[in-house]
Formats: sequence, structure tokens, C-alpha cells
Amino acid sequence: MKTVSSLLEEEWYNRYKKISKLHIRSSIYDVTNRCNLRCKGCFFFSSGEHEAAREEMDVRKWEAFIDQEMARGVNLAILIGGEPTLCLDRVAAFYKRLPTFCATNGLIKVPRDRFPHMMVGISLWGDEADEKILRGRDTFSISSKNYAGDPHAYYLYTITPKQIGKTERIVKKIRDAGLKVHMQLLSNDEGVDQFFWTGDQLKDIRDEMDQMLDRYPDTVISSKYYHQIITSGRMLDRPFGWNECPSVTEPMDKRDPAPKRLIGFIRYASDLKTMHRCCTSETRDCSTCKDGAAHMSWVMVNKRGHIRSETELKGWIEVYEMFAKLYQFIPW
Ligand code: SF4
Ligand code: SF4
Repeated sequence: MKTVSSLLEEEWYNRYKKISKLHIRSSIYDVTNRCNLRCKGCFFFSSGEHEAAREEMDVRKWEAFIDQEMARGVNLAILIGGEPTLCLDRVAAFYKRLPTFCATNGLIKVPRDRFPHMMVGISLWGDEADEKILRGRDTFSISSKNYAGDPHAYYLYTITPKQIGKTERIVKKIRDAGLKVHMQLLSNDEGVDQFFWTGDQLKDIRDEMDQMLDRYPDTVISSKYYHQIITSGRMLDRPFGWNECPSVTEPMDKRDPAPKRLIGFIRYASDLKTMHRCCTSETRDCSTCKDGAAHMSWVMVNKRGHIRSETELKGWIEVYEMFAKLYQFIPW
């Protein structure tokens, strides 16, 4: 029988042992229904999730809720919205209690005297031209000033089909700002013309993502196995989609047969009661979903399936390490 130790030499086995101790239990929280941008293709607004619940305004209720979440085993809070930095008291309620990741568009700087080690993921949608079309402004010019050189921040670079051949300039700009970058692909939830992926474009962007990782290993936090899976939508000869997605809110998950999934995962709306279907859009067609975290998690929960060859198991380790770096469970 193939086992982890029979497939790996010592160095890789030691890497495996480090991550196998982590037992990450994440959940996602909409901190607010408001945002200081309205991006075309924002899954939150386009699916009406901003109207699904009334925001809880009393920070003491947030504090009590977070204590309950910790009691049910959550050890990583992923804050999204809307724009979490519009409600820093709520963000602080999480940060004081447990490891916290804050997604932001970077227009408002998280004050580091209040949140010294909180990991911040700054969204970036393509280059200046794409950002103007999709988000109404070039956010990088502001966010890169707010976070230059920050060791607890990285760019979450959503690559659009128009970025093919252009990603290197963006990666260099991020490197020159003293920051890291992680890449994912646009899902185009609002059907913006010319922003849909074709099969050939997905092949081209996979090659380009691989090149970026080879050329800028100190800046790009990624893995080639992740690039393969997110561009092909396939892993272990299976297609990604509703039947496989690991990031479905557990109490709403009635799938039969049940796939491997994130244990205890819930995405809560900002009333602290309403649950959303999954980590992303309530209305997205799962067959078109390119969500990076869902694909990463898909790999991570399917460890057993990867214990069939050295190459596949090493791919699994690299994806797990990437996730652990992005959420500060291991250093960059
Ligand atoms: S910044 Fe984020 S939350 Fe705000 S509209 Fe854009 S994608 Fe949506
Ligand atoms: S939209 Fe994406 S993240 Fe949500 S259930 Fe479907 S595949 Fe999973």
C-alpha cells in the first residue's frame, strides 16, 4: 500500500509533517454590506448578498458571536464584505480573539498600530485599464502607497483574460512596492463583454502564471499544481463544480453523496445569523466558478486521493503550504 512516507524523501516528508499539524478550521464573515467601490463582477453585490441581511451594528454582539464561533472550533476568521475596513471596530473584535485575515480593496489603510500582525489581502483586478473598466478607478496607485513594504499584506491579483502577456509588469510593480502577490482568475459574474475565458486563453495564462512563479519566486506565492487546477478546473481526473466544491456552508450542505469538504465551514452574513451558500456568490453557476480559495481548499481536503504518486502528493503539499502562507500559519 502506498503511504505518505513511502512516497516522499526526507526533505518533503518534513515539509509534509509541518503542515499536517496545522488543522486549519476557517469560516468567512461578511463584516458589512457596504463598500466604497462597486466593481462590475463583484460576487457580493451582483448576487444580492448585500441585501440578504441587516447589518448588526452593536459591536458587543459581534464579540459574543465571535466567542461562540471559537467555541465551535473556528481558528481562522476570513473577513470579507463589502469592505471590512469601513467597520474597524468589528475587525478588531475578531483580531483580538483569533487569527484573522482581512480582504480589502486597499483604499483605506488598516492602521498597523491597532492591527500589527493581521494579514491583509488587497484585491487587484488586472492592470490600470482593466481596473478603470471593472472597478471605476485604478486602486493600485492608492493601495500600493498604503501598504508598501508591509510584511503582513499581499495582493490578491485577479487575472482577467485581457491580462495575457501583461502579468509580468504587474508582478514587477508589486515586487517594487515590497509586497507579495497571489493570483486567481476572474469569474466574470456580471458578464462583462470580452472578460469571459476561452479554453485557449486558459492554457496561455497557465503558462504565464508558471513563468511568473519561476521568474519571481520571492514575490509570487503560488504553485504550478494550483495553476494547473484553476485553469483546467480538473483534479485527480475529476471536474470542479457543485458536486466537488469543499467551500459550501456546512449546515446548508445536503449533497448526496457528500464530497470531501471543509469541516465546520460557514459563511455568515453581517446580521450574524443568516448563512450564505458558499464562500462566494449565492447565484454563481458552479461550472464557471474560478474562485481561488475554493480550488485550493478542494486540493487540501482531498489528501487521500493524492497519495497515489510522488508527483501528486508533492503537488498537494505545495498547495497546502501556499494556503498556509497566505493565512500566516507558516512564514512566506
Ligand atoms: S471592492 Fe470588493 S466588495 Fe467592494 S465592490 Fe469591489 S469586489 Fe465588491
Ligand atoms: S459558486 Fe464556486 S465556491 Fe460557490 S458552491 Fe459553486 S463552486 Fe463552490
